[in-house]
Amino acid sequence: MVAMDNLITGSQDNIAHLAGNRGFEFIYHDVSNFIHVPGPVGAVLHFASPASPMDYLKYPIQTLKVGALGTHNALGLARTKGARFLLASTSEVYGDPLVHPQPEDYAGNVDPVGPRGVYDEAKRYAEALVMAYHRQHGMETRIVRIFNTYGPRMRLDDGRVVPNFIGQAIRSEPLTIYGDGSQTRCFQYIDDLVEGVCRLLHSDYVEPVNIGTTREISMREFARIVNNVAGNAAGAVYGDGSRIDGDPQTRKPDTVRARTVLKWQPKIELEEGLDRTIRYFRTALSLPA
Ligand code: UDP
Repeated sequence: MVAMDNLITGSQDNIAHLAGNRGFEFIYHDVSNFIHVPGPVGAVLHFASPASPMDYLKYPIQTLKVGALGTHNALGLARTKGARFLLASTSEVYGDPLVHPQPEDYAGNVDPVGPRGVYDEAKRYAEALVMAYHRQHGMETRIVRIFNTYGPRMRLDDGRVVPNFIGQAIRSEPLTIYGDGSQTRCFQYIDDLVEGVCRLLHSDYVEPVNIGTTREISMREFARIVNNVAGNAAGAVYGDGSRIDGDPQTRKPDTVRARTVLKWQPKIELEEGLDRTIRYFRTALSLPA
């Protein structure tokens, strides 16, 4: 297995435990440039992209390039090798949705020139390119639309709500709720996502598939849950100015497709997943468990 990353938002620490495995190789490479992999390749999984709003606002051009050129190169590699291809897409293709929950055939409400446009449009273009390679070249392609996902090995300072809230909670600080906290998200644990991705890769389903939980909570409720699980008594503060323009008000997957086509459903309850993630963050910050 070959992993490739230019590590602009990731870290090699996250794969340190794989370093000794025979057959695992890490190549430091930006997939927006031509990709060369020697030997046979069975499947190409294209996950490269900043995914936190803070990160893609810091790297807007790299984000657009990896969604466009990176997807093109990764598809080219898969085509040359006769490999299956899977694109990690996103719930952000639905933008600030006007349909709720969001089924895969909802075309979305995205502002191309808004701050999130760099990510949303890159992923929308990537999906279009994947479907074009499928239709034009008959390639075996898969598209997973990933909803909010969290778990161990998230970057502590990636700016997203899960690391922000957990970091604040374990330092006994108040949690920073952006806006009035009425905006909603559905959070899935990483292991459930991985299971969904594997099932999709091994299925024969070409259309996009949403993978996410359907337990929809407001950021206000989410702050309460994180404080409970972490045992933080410092509460929350509202209206922090850092809320990014274009922050979707709601987001919830319609998961009928994943349930019927992949026989997939999430297994890890939010409280359980948060508990595991909090343990990881405490260890990473060298705080007592
Ligand atoms: N958010 C928050 N406090 C924070 C960080 C984020 O209230 O410290 C909110 C943010 O405004 C958004 C939600 O949490 O409504 C999820 O944000 P995140 O950056 O995790 O990902 P998104 O789902 O927006 O891509």
